Amino acid sequence: MIIQLSNGGAQFFAGKGMPDAMEAKILGAVSAAQHVHLLAQHYGVCVVLHTDHANKKLIPWVEGMIAHSETHYEKTGKPLFSSHMLDLSEETLEFNLGECARVLSRLAKIDMSLEIELGVTGGEEDGVGSDIDVGDADNAKLYTQPSEVLAAYEKLASIGHFSVAASFGNVHGVYKPGNVKLRPEILKDSQALVQEKHSLNANPLDLVFHGGSGSEKAKITEAVGYGVFKMNIDTDTQFAFSKPIGDFVKKTPKAFTHQIDPDDGTPYKKFYDPRKYLRAAEQGMVDRLQEAFVDLGSKGKSLCR
Ligand SMILES: [Zn+2]
Repeated sequence: MIIQLSNGGAQFFAGKGMPDAMEAKILGAVSAAQHVHLLAQHYGVCVVLHTDHANKKLIPWVEGMIAHSETHYEKTGKPLFSSHMLDLSEETLEFNLGECARVLSRLAKIDMSLEIELGVTGGEEDGVGSDIDVGDADNAKLYTQPSEVLAAYEKLASIGHFSVAASFGNVHGVYKPGNVKLRPEILKDSQALVQEKHSLNANPLDLVFHGGSGSEKAKITEAVGYGVFKMNIDTDTQFAFSKPIGDFVKKTPKAFTHQIDPDDGTPYKKFYDPRKYLRAAEQGMVDRLQEAFVDLGSKGKSLCR
């Protein structure tokens, strides 16, 4: 599985009360990563630790986390995270690739990878996003040009491992059917161009699918066929987590207004204990992830043997 922290998620993990927000974003992410390192081996699962969109203002966040990985690498021979993301898609291509090359040089030394973004994912994720109208499915910015993917390959391939979040009409969030027009053939064309120019095997690039929530299953399958090796789903997993809590409250509403039943004196402690409804929420998330594993063709497979 992949556990990916957004800057807001990392800050939340540290605690919203922490006075220095940037420090909270760095320490929250580091704290979550240390937690996963400690527990994952006891679950016997392989976890890829990654971070989400970092625009120009959030470059110090990424570099702060890299500093922690460098220290961890010196001690253990392993980085704290598997990879980070830089989303400089709102900047010029030159600035975007220049910064990606600079950061990837640092990451490659400690066996880490970088996800870059070319073209803009519509909608907004944790304060990083665009003003592009999600209903405007013809907007060219929502569709990466294969020539940009080729430029990225030529700049970065010799430095270290990188993946590309190429936009093919995908957006963050879930909208009414018809508002989002996915064109996965953009991924196919990008792969073909890089393959041809550099005489490589099929699907030479590892691609990332942002805004996977609410996507048609056939488009997911098609995108995986064009080399998508990672899909982000946040909106759907948020809902899968929250819905069981709503159901739980609906079933025992009095437990959320009274500690003891005002009519018959029943104590409600075992219902308002936060672990009860949070466990139901976790179970909802597990079910949604099982569905995603099937959609992506990864059910029963693992990177660890
Ligand atoms: Zn995204």
